[in-house]
Amino acid sequence: MGIIDERRAVIQPLNKVWYKGKVSAIDMLRLDMLHPVISGNKWYKLRLNLAWAQDHGRQTVVTFGGAWSNHLVATAFAARQFGIKSVGIVRGVQESLTQTLKDCREYGMELIFVSREDYALRHQPEWAEDMVRHFDEIYIIPEGGANERGRMGAGLIKRFITDSYTHVIQAVGTGTTMAGLRNALPVAQYMMGVVPMKHAGEQSHYISAHTDADMAGSWEMLAEPLGGGFGKWNDTLTGFMNEFYTDNQIPLDVVYTSKMMYKVKALLDDNHFSSCDRILCIHSGGLQGNVSVKDKLVY
Ligand SMILES: *Cc1c(COP(=O)(O)O)cnc(C)c1O
Repeated sequence: MGIIDERRAVIQPLNKVWYKGKVSAIDMLRLDMLHPVISGNKWYKLRLNLAWAQDHGRQTVVTFGGAWSNHLVATAFAARQFGIKSVGIVRGVQESLTQTLKDCREYGMELIFVSREDYALRHQPEWAEDMVRHFDEIYIIPEGGANERGRMGAGLIKRFITDSYTHVIQAVGTGTTMAGLRNALPVAQYMMGVVPMKHAGEQSHYISAHTDADMAGSWEMLAEPLGGGFGKWNDTLTGFMNEFYTDNQIPLDVVYTSKMMYKVKALLDDNHFSSCDRILCIHSGGLQGNVSVKDKLVY
């Protein structure tokens, strides 16, 4: 399926000025450049799921997400490329469609809106199946692509990462990408996940549950540095995003990668790393969500 050209994902060194030469190198893996819609890690979490659905004659994929979900819009687009119908179950009844949901519809996704109370039942297979029983041959992909095929697919990101890096840092939502990559990378490469929420306990638990036992101690999970909570931003964060862009010519997204790099900056300022460390930060995409703050950004 030639929809994604993986050669677009380049490794871009950050400007030494930005990290004040405190470590040997900080590079960014630009998974955001893979594709404008199915950007970043979402393609890796979806590809084995969609390939399986196609191989097994499933005609409809069903998945879940909020009104700004990168996963939802990536699923809509990727499913269409595979010739599979998509249905998105959306958290919360929306008064008007967000740009993300408009894009989902444009890519052929049928949207079903459910109350937040009902959405809480999404992990129960019977509930989800009942919601979509009028469709044929369905295949359910959990929220965030958080299943075995999602983790296996994320492990394929390893192909971009050489052994020369001492640290691999990424933004974490469900933990699916980090779990898959943790299992795939050598244990000597220390992984740090930054969760854009106040607490990182759930994601830590997920990684422990889905990684090999000998990986314990080779990773850590950090909560967001600004204390605002998921999807929350302020002028400090958007100011940081603008500065980062000016120094490195890399656009960050307001939900995930901006908070990751803000945390990296805070760790550098605390002299957390040693001068010989070589750090790879993964840009997992999500730029489509920046329309919600476009007035604040210089890019
Ligand atoms: C979805 C997403 C993540 C989180 O991925 P998980 O596999 O759920 O942890 C990180 N960054 C961006 C930009 C995303 O869209």
